[in-house]
Amino acid sequence: MKICVIGSGYVGLVAGTCFAESGNTVICVDVNQEKIEGLKEGILPIYEPGLKELVLRNSSEGRLFFSTDLASAVKESLICFIAVGTPPGEDGSADLQHVIAVAREIGRNMDGFKIIVDKSTVPVGTAEKVRRATQEELDRRGVSHEFDVVSNPEFLKEGAAIDDFMKPDRVVIGADNVRTAEIMKELYSPFMRKTNRLIVMDVKSAEMTKYAANAMLATRISFMNQIANLCERMGADVAAVREGIGSDSRIGYDFLFPGVGYGGSCFPKDVKALIKTADECNYDFVLLNAVEEVNERQKKVLVDKMVAHFSPGGGAGSLAGKTIAVWGLSFKPRTDDMREAPSIVIIESLLELGATVRAHDPEAVKEAKKIFGDRITYTSTNQYEILNGADALAIITEWNEYRNPDFERIGASLSAPVIFDGRNLYNPRRMRDIGFTYHSIGRNGSS
Ligand code: NAD
Repeated sequence: MKICVIGSGYVGLVAGTCFAESGNTVICVDVNQEKIEGLKEGILPIYEPGLKELVLRNSSEGRLFFSTDLASAVKESLICFIAVGTPPGEDGSADLQHVIAVAREIGRNMDGFKIIVDKSTVPVGTAEKVRRATQEELDRRGVSHEFDVVSNPEFLKEGAAIDDFMKPDRVVIGADNVRTAEIMKELYSPFMRKTNRLIVMDVKSAEMTKYAANAMLATRISFMNQIANLCERMGADVAAVREGIGSDSRIGYDFLFPGVGYGGSCFPKDVKALIKTADECNYDFVLLNAVEEVNERQKKVLVDKMVAHFSPGGGAGSLAGKTIAVWGLSFKPRTDDMREAPSIVIIESLLELGATVRAHDPEAVKEAKKIFGDRITYTSTNQYEILNGADALAIITEWNEYRNPDFERIGASLSAPVIFDGRNLYNPRRMRDIGFTYHSIGRNGSS
């Protein structure tokens, strides 16, 4: 099939590349000329494991193209995916300006039947807005072409995006037209060879499914963070509690790790957008408001522990003169994405309290520099160097290289052996035995 994917970010680039990998001819379009020029040269704008190899192979085999020319891409394609960003607007609602701008561009340029697919995460009712915007442009041109608007939300996870796309748990297709649903099924059939988990539904339900999924996952995280905080106060161990509840098949183990709060480009904005959607229907989504509030508070938990350790009185300047070495900046491992990363709130708080911060991250330093500039120091290579003479190590992102480190070296490098672990990577009892003061989230060290 001939496809164009408009918006070549985390989602568009992965989707376009994977569609090319399954034999389709794909044009990835973006307004960002630098990004497109780079991609033509094989330079990827993002870090995503396995993506570069696929981009290079499919480009050289003549199935994957990059362009800023949306008009030609639309003319050459049967299916036009919209995969542009939908950042939160000032009031928390999803900002649809890029989606609608693309819909208009498609209307201005289409020359025959097209399937327009909303791949971006967009609120219920957006497909209708896309339809209207496209139709208005056709009317303006005085031409008549048939088109369908499909909702096909994306569930990939950054860091495992290729696998998620090639072997999805499910693909959701919201289509109000049987013929179009069949074409979409055909497009996704190569990814359904193991299990056929293609779920076809009406457009609005598909749009809601994406928000409901992210809101549910965010709810599990906030729930478990509160259970962890309560465990700490009661002397229970959240790791044992997770085992205990996860073994219930109705609950399961996933997404029950307490930590420093959820971040990233999706959960925070999608939770906010769903709250806003509910507001617009005069429906008070009490639960999601609480999920968000818990998450904001959780980002401060590690800093509170540092203040309690170094300066129990707290207050302004309570970490003055302290140097904190931070491992992990990206919002999760295996990505360079810093959008809404908890590290931002944590590091800003540390700086505000007077601390000096040195950070290590294997991939996110370039992105982090855009946020912190020269207010902190960085390294992406030796994770131990930043420990020399620091007063404590704080772990914010659970990159693999932090899971089994050289504790002897950590202890010898720090001015005192103190770790604040926001991801519960180590065994508290073992840490105590090897002489560390070890703070983690919700554990009493019994497990
Ligand atoms: P991104 O910011 O990485 O990429 C968006 C791209 O769209 C950018 O390269 C931008 O230059 C381009 N763009 C903006 N306006 C354009 C226009 N008019 N024409 C052409 N290109 C344009 O965003 P992303 O992370 O890929 O997310 C895209 C959508 O997918 C969002 O709605 C997001 O919520 C959703 N989503 C993201 C993820 C994820 O893990 N990142 C997962 C599932 C769904």
